[in-house]
Amino acid sequence: MQIKDRVVIITGGANGIGAALARRLILEGAQVVIGDIDKKSGQELINELGQKSSNKVNAIFVFCDVTNFNHLRQLFDTAQTTFGGVDVVCNNIGIGQTGEFYDQTDIDSWIKTIDINLNAVIKGTQLGIQYLKKRGGGVIINTASLAGFHPLESYPIYTTAKYGIVGFTQSLRDLNNTNKIRVNAIAPGFVDTNLVKESRKSSSEIVQLIDKFGYVPMDEVINAFMMAIQDDNLVGDIIMLPKKNTSQIISNSYLESMGLAN
Ligand code: NAD
Repeated sequence: MQIKDRVVIITGGANGIGAALARRLILEGAQVVIGDIDKKSGQELINELGQKSSNKVNAIFVFCDVTNFNHLRQLFDTAQTTFGGVDVVCNNIGIGQTGEFYDQTDIDSWIKTIDINLNAVIKGTQLGIQYLKKRGGGVIINTASLAGFHPLESYPIYTTAKYGIVGFTQSLRDLNNTNKIRVNAIAPGFVDTNLVKESRKSSSEIVQLIDKFGYVPMDEVINAFMMAIQDDNLVGDIIMLPKKNTSQIISNSYLESMGLAN
């Protein structure tokens, strides 16, 4: 798929990886719709993106709390009314684990992590399928994590959500045959964003793992998104970037080789 003139939704796109992705997409000529709860950063990003482009409005911010299905629906509706449809959905939303799982009795905090990190990806995908069908197909990209393959003992709920995203993404391969919708995921190691800065403060495991793995440069992560959008051969695949310069595609093809694929 070509990126120029495509309409791309990014949830959790006002900061970090989502904002870097928006910058790159605008450079490549896409139209971007950012959904986030951080109005200030979202508006600053839109102002910055507007300066980089021609007179045409090609990036908008929509206040969207991904735990609220009406907000999510509004995000897609606004993309449709502003740009005429949706071609790519980046379910990028994710927060560090809220609450301390082992000591606490308050179940609301871990439910919040699952609601934001997993349920919002599923809801965004469901809405995405409805809207992409209207265009005759498209691409959905879910932001998983190295924690979707390598369990974080200090963050079991975050790990659960990211393993969930990996399985969810792999289970949707057939959408490419039925509706020309390719669903893929990106699974980065540590990227220097607010999320990681906060996680470092509360988890010595994270500090040790960053010492071991180092940070993945942001441009490598964004290149992986570009590949997931553009490469028609990527279907239900996960682009994993555990460390700098180590990106690889985790596909279901090993199941085929064992005679276990559908
Ligand atoms: P970030 O903290 O920089 O950005 C997250 C964004 O989500 C923020 O703009 C925040 O305002 C927004 N947000 C939070 N709650 C929200 C809600 N309820 N509704 C809508 N928006 C909300 O984080 P990031 O590092 O850019 O993370 C982006 C994605 O990448 C997440 O899915 C994260 O799990 C994943 N990831 C990050 C790393 C890393 O090392 N940074 C590694 C692997 C995967």
